[in-house]
Formats: sequence, C-alpha cells, structure tokens
Amino acid sequence: MTEKRMHRKSHQIECPGKGAAGSATNANGSFLSGLLGNFMPGKRSSLVRDLHRRINFDMLTGLPNRYSLQKKLSSLIASKDIGNFAFMFINIDSFRNVNGISGHIEGDQLLCRFADRLGSLDGWDLFAGRFSGDTFVVMYPGCPDSKKLMHEAKEILARLSGEYAIGGTKHDVTASIGVSRFPSDGSSPTELVRKADIALHQAKKLGNGRIVFFNDKIDKELRTNVRFERNLKKALLRDEFFLEYQPQYDFKTGRISGFESLLRWKNPECGIVSPGDFIPVAERTGGILTIGEFVMRKSFLFLRKLGELEDPYSVSVNVSAVQLSNPDFVPMVSSVISESPEHAHCLHIEITETVNIRSFDDVAEKIRTLKKMGVKISLDDFGTGYSSLSYLRRIPFDELKIDKSFICDIDSDEQTKRIMSPLIDLAHSFNLKVVAEGIENREQLDILRNCGCDKIQGYLIGKPASEEVSFRILSSTRIMHRT
Ligand code: C2E
Ligand code: CA
Ligand code: CA
Repeated sequence: MTEKRMHRKSHQIECPGKGAAGSATNANGSFLSGLLGNFMPGKRSSLVRDLHRRINFDMLTGLPNRYSLQKKLSSLIASKDIGNFAFMFINIDSFRNVNGISGHIEGDQLLCRFADRLGSLDGWDLFAGRFSGDTFVVMYPGCPDSKKLMHEAKEILARLSGEYAIGGTKHDVTASIGVSRFPSDGSSPTELVRKADIALHQAKKLGNGRIVFFNDKIDKELRTNVRFERNLKKALLRDEFFLEYQPQYDFKTGRISGFESLLRWKNPECGIVSPGDFIPVAERTGGILTIGEFVMRKSFLFLRKLGELEDPYSVSVNVSAVQLSNPDFVPMVSSVISESPEHAHCLHIEITETVNIRSFDDVAEKIRTLKKMGVKISLDDFGTGYSSLSYLRRIPFDELKIDKSFICDIDSDEQTKRIMSPLIDLAHSFNLKVVAEGIENREQLDILRNCGCDKIQGYLIGKPASEEVSFRILSSTRIMHRT
C-alpha cells in the first residue's frame, strides 16, 4: 500500500463479531434508542446495540451489509473533502460450484472466510462489506490514477485469492472485480453501483480473476446487446423472420435434388441480421425453441408445396444443440410431420458438428426416433470440429455435409485436395451420402465430382433465395432438362 494513504478510522472495515460494532448514534440508532428507552430503560443499551447490528451488518459474515454500504456510498458522495473514490464489486468466481458440490454449509463457511480476509486488510484506507450472495464491495476513497488503482485492485485480489481449507476440502478461490469511479463515472449511488456491476459482468465474461474498470464502450455494448435481445424476443410476433432456400445439386441425376432452408431476420432497427449473429443469442436466451418451431413449420410447408411437383425434392432444416436437447423437440417435429406424414422422408435435419454433444446416448436415441418417422439426419459443418469419427460411429446419420471452410481452398491447396477422396470414401463406408457446401467455382465442382461426392451446394449452383424465386429456378431447370 502507498505510504501516502491516510489511515482513516471511519473507513476501516467494521465487524460486530470482532468487537468493532459501530456506535448507535446514527439516525436509526438515535430513533431506536429514544423509542426503546421510554419502555425498557434497563435493557435499552444492549437491545439498541443488537438492533443496530441487525440493521447495519450482515448476519453471516459480520461485515457491513448492503444498507450500510449504501449509506456509506451516499455519505462519501455528499462529503465535501473526500474528492474522488473508487467503488468496487468483488465477486467470487464459480461460487455456485462450491454450493453445488460441497453444499451450502461449506459455501457459507467459505463466504465467512472470504469476508475475514477482506476484513483483515488492516490499515487499508477502505470501507468494505457484503452486498449480496457472493458479491462484496470495497469503497476506496481518494483513489489514485488508473494505473495505481489497478495495482491496488490487483493486490486486493491477491490477498483474497488462493487456497481456502474448509471442512477437509481445499478450495482454490479466485475472484473478479468491477470498478466504477466517482465522480468520472457518475455522481449518484445508483449510477456508480450500476456501472461497477456492468464492469463486473464484463470481468466475468473475460474469465476468472479479472479486473475491469467501467468505460463507455462497455456500456454502449451492453445497451446494444440489451436492445438486440429485446428486438429478437419480439421478432416472431412482429413477423420479422423469413426463410430463404438454397438449392443442392445431385451429381448422379444432374438436377437440383433439394434445398437447405436458411433463416433470415429483418428488423427495422438492426436491419438484416445474419443467423450467425442472432442464433447464438436466441440459444442463450431460450428463444431458439419457438424460432426453431417456426422454421420447422415453414420449411415443411415449402416441402409439401414441392411435393406437388413431379420430382421429389428434399428440404434440410438446421437444428441447434439447444433445440435437440429440449425434451419437446421430437414431439414438435412429430406434430409438424403429422400434417402430411407421406412427406416425412423428404425432410432432412442438419445437426452441426461443432455442437458439443454431451450425451451421445440421448442424442442417438432422439435421432433413432426421428428416423423411424422417416426423417433423414445430416451431420453439418463436417471438418470444423474435432470428434467427427466418434460422431459417425455412435450416431446413425444419413448424410455428411463437408463445411465450406474445408472446400474454399480445395482448388488451390494440394493437401486439401488429396484428402478429399479418402474422406468421401470413408463417409461412404459408413453408408453416408456426402454433400459439399460453399462451392463457388467450376474447379471446385470438378474436383468434388471426381472425388465421388454425391451432392453440392453453393453460390455456383444458386444463392439462398425466396420461395418464389426457388420455384422459378426449379421450373426453368426442369424445362431445360426436358428439352
Ligand atoms: P450453415 O448451415 O453452414 O449454412 C450455410 C451458410 O453458408 C449459409 O450462411 C449460406 O448462406 C452460406 N453459403 C452458402 N453457399 C455459400 C458459398 O458458396 N459461399 C459462401 N461464402 N457462403 C455460402 P447463413 O445463411 O448466413 O447461415 C449461417 C449459419 O446460421 C448456418 O450455417 C447455420 O448454422 C445457421 N442457421 C441458418 N438458419 C438456421 C436455422 O433455421 N436454425 C438454426 N439453428 N441455425 C440456422
Ligand atoms: Ca446447415
Ligand atoms: Ca455448414
């Protein structure tokens, strides 16, 4: 700690358990002592002390509680001579695991020991307390410049982190800190708390043991994300989603054999948003389940319309891991198909390979049920993940889609070209059809044809397009084939 720092008693950590309970001279204390004094003159002082402790201190850790912290924050802001100060949120990393694995009693003990370490920062010119759960606060008056403040915050973290031996278990504890500063980040308690909370949230996102100072960029990002999530939640009701269909070409028949349906979102505020940007948000917020049902129903309707043409066409629907792991997924597909079961064999479900399939048995079981309904299953994005072979062995796929990142340099990179043939042979040995996606030029098409690939998809064949355009493409190619 810096020599210059004043040792101000009023800012030191107060803890009733350690005989340091504050005097009952604050606003509440005066009121209560007056009130109780009239009724029970003898027991007045111990009762008032007890009540004061209950009002101002956290019963578990003995540190000042949220009420005290808020009072202190307001008084720091109001105080004329204090100048600037830092407000820090300190949160224990992965505390939920301690509660979950070792139980709440050990969790409580860890909180007390953590609070002890915080309380033992003797001589530090700061005021600390427990805000809620595993979140603590440190207010640090007269905060130095950013560099020094970061140094001090690191020292606080170093003191609080490390091994905690509790009930025979050694917990390796780290914590994260979010910091806001008075007056540069705000001049009201609400603003300082909100901004420290935003900074803490950012620190948590970066990983364990991180310290983040609030800045406007984080705030702007957060506001944008919140707006984005809000817009996304309303998108289905506002009819902002629509589907495009990208054709797939079959080498054997020399014709378009089907389409992949690709979801689009058009929002008045955000414009056209790529599924790569909004699907992960929908997965995180749970919206993907209703969005996924919309995609399935629309795609199946398109498929039924295609079924009215002479040739059979397949429609592939992308399904995320979150959708697949939901117990309602298979019943939802079943209900969609029940409207026209004779078309079920034309429905393909694409499951991305990057999906971390945690429970192979559960996924395999669901896939078997879908297959019994006649649905075909594709392993999407093959070549981007790392457990491809175990997927192929354990899950009964019908089709494998080689990712476009694998295809894009097939015409320029000898190594990629060399492994394509054995890769396709391997897939065939598993009885899988192979679709290559992202074909943009003739050379790529020729290489894949020579390697024995079954189908291709990409801008060379056709970009994703509306239902209307897709039907137009089909009718023109069918005329071409007849003539
Ligand atoms: P994906 O399943 O790998 O889809 C193929 C992506 O590659 C599409 O991007 C498509 O427009 C693009 N693409 C197709 N051909 C070419 C080409 O020749 N060159 C290039 N550079 N790109 C090509 P899009 O539409 O942006 O979709 C991105 C991803 O979003 C999809 O990747 C899929 O994982 C996901 N997605 C799309 N629709 C849905 C959906 O309804 N549900 C779920 N869960 N995910 C979806
Ligand atoms: Ca796909
Ligand atoms: Ca893909």
